[in-house]
Amino acid sequence: ASGSELLRDPRYNKGLAFTEEERDRHYLRGLLPPTIISQELQVERVLQNVRSYKNPLEKYIALMDLQERNERLFYKVLMEHVEELLPIVYTPVVGEACQKYGNIFRRPHGLYISLKDRGNVLDLLKNWPEKNVEVIVVTDGERILGLGDLGLHGMGIPVGKLALYTALGGIRPSSTLPIAIDVGTNNETLLKDPFYIGLRQKRATGKEYDALLDEFMNACKQAYGEKVLVQFEDFANHNAFRLLQKYATTHLVFNDDIQGTAAVALAGLVAALPITGGTLADHKFLFLGAGEAGTGIAEIIALEVSKQGKTSVEEARKAISLVDSKGLVTKSRYESLQEHKRPYAHDLPPAQDLLSAVKALKPTVLIGTSGKGGTFTREVLEEISSYQDKPIIMALSNPTSQSECTAEEAYKYTKGKCVFASGSPFGPVTYEGKTYVVGQSNNCYIFPGIGLGCIISGAIRVHDDMFLAAAEALAKQINEDHLAKNQLYPAFSEIREISAHIGAAVAAKAYELGLATRLPQPKDLFAYAKSCMYSPNYRKYR
Ligand code: NAP
Ligand code: MN
Repeated sequence: ASGSELLRDPRYNKGLAFTEEERDRHYLRGLLPPTIISQELQVERVLQNVRSYKNPLEKYIALMDLQERNERLFYKVLMEHVEELLPIVYTPVVGEACQKYGNIFRRPHGLYISLKDRGNVLDLLKNWPEKNVEVIVVTDGERILGLGDLGLHGMGIPVGKLALYTALGGIRPSSTLPIAIDVGTNNETLLKDPFYIGLRQKRATGKEYDALLDEFMNACKQAYGEKVLVQFEDFANHNAFRLLQKYATTHLVFNDDIQGTAAVALAGLVAALPITGGTLADHKFLFLGAGEAGTGIAEIIALEVSKQGKTSVEEARKAISLVDSKGLVTKSRYESLQEHKRPYAHDLPPAQDLLSAVKALKPTVLIGTSGKGGTFTREVLEEISSYQDKPIIMALSNPTSQSECTAEEAYKYTKGKCVFASGSPFGPVTYEGKTYVVGQSNNCYIFPGIGLGCIISGAIRVHDDMFLAAAEALAKQINEDHLAKNQLYPAFSEIREISAHIGAAVAAKAYELGLATRLPQPKDLFAYAKSCMYSPNYRKYR
């Protein structure tokens, strides 16, 4: 390649880090100032720049520009400063970026597939420059984080998630493909916004929607083979459960909002058991929110309890109840319930709200997946700690404003009795002289390892047991020191190592279930997983 081509290609560009020898060989003389600096120094410079921006959205734009200019530097910065930069490339700042995607749009970071492309989706995939795609994250933009329908501006989510596949899970950037599907939007503000990048029409539904999705799913396999992993992300729940069920038996797919969330929550619960005592089967669970996250977590708990004990999944579900926007999910509501809630329609007296459900059921674990902030009220938290010594409280809704309660409220209103984790980041809390570290129940602990495990084993299907294995591997990272501070999740700084452990556990499960195609099975899966992980350090060009 010529010098200017090297500089323009983000995959090869090193900026001022090109060596004397490379500058001679690749016709770079004169195209760069004479100074040579190391990648380490470049990392420092980028950090200084990013930190100098007061506005988080400016930080986001600076990082995305870097990704387009110098990919390896982008990933090195991200990997070495995960804790600081994760909230920018991912929630919560990515949410704001999506809301303003039309305004900050510079270069397409992924592939856009709209209703207009019916019949030609395979050709579109062929336009994507990379041929060895291994992981696709796809959204239709209908339920972006807790922000609702953002239409095609939802593209920020697959872009951000795949950046984490690389930074946290070591998946090569060239094998990742972000996709946004445009079937219209029902967001009136966007439809009127001159900078909106998507189709200006209401969302297609029914046959029209299904046909596009079906063509897309089949085209993925045709373009990239049977073993391309497709992650469904931020679909509204009326499509999410349906699509997952439809494609789980024919494609390598999972839904992160349902299954990834479930695994990360289960890991936190398992990690908490040494503090609360007992096993999962000894607990009684109450959820606020009975959507993708809520029922996904409920199902994985029931599955795990059934595997541990001598009960069936049906029996295990009886210890789990759900409250939705209409109150407690009960048998009397059965006919009008969406399918995913029906397994939890127990024969119980009705309860209008969370507080009365807590009073009636006396749960030992309270999990918030409602997307509604402030719903774990003082009364609710006082009530649960009135009969329970060590209640587990998980406020999982994102972004921070939607958290069911803050960490401080949880510890204050339970008088320091609870064990707390949240979906959004909270700093440590000190209550009556004791300091608690708040673990973040964040899917990004799980999905990069799921992807890594599938890739290294050549898995052909994603099985629920892989999520159990992932949850177990994550829970194992919690030690006495963490537990002393009620910390249910490890620090993000360790996350690459953790992803390798999860990847190895997921791959081991794939081999055990006969779903792996990469044979023979490597002896040491952890070492193998690590050896497969992408390194962002510059290579030498000859
Ligand atoms: P979803 O499928 O739309 O489900 C939301 C559920 O909450 C529905 O069952 C809804 O009731 C219920 N709900 C809404 N308002 C309520 C209220 N005031 N009282 C009681 N229930 C209420 O959404 P989701 O995908 O499950 O996501 C929910 C939240 O979880 C979002 O904020 C998301 O950011 C968060 N989340 C966090 C993580 C994490 O890793 N921490 C992962 C995934 C999602 P109806 O069924 O009656 O409408
Ligand atoms: Mn999501």
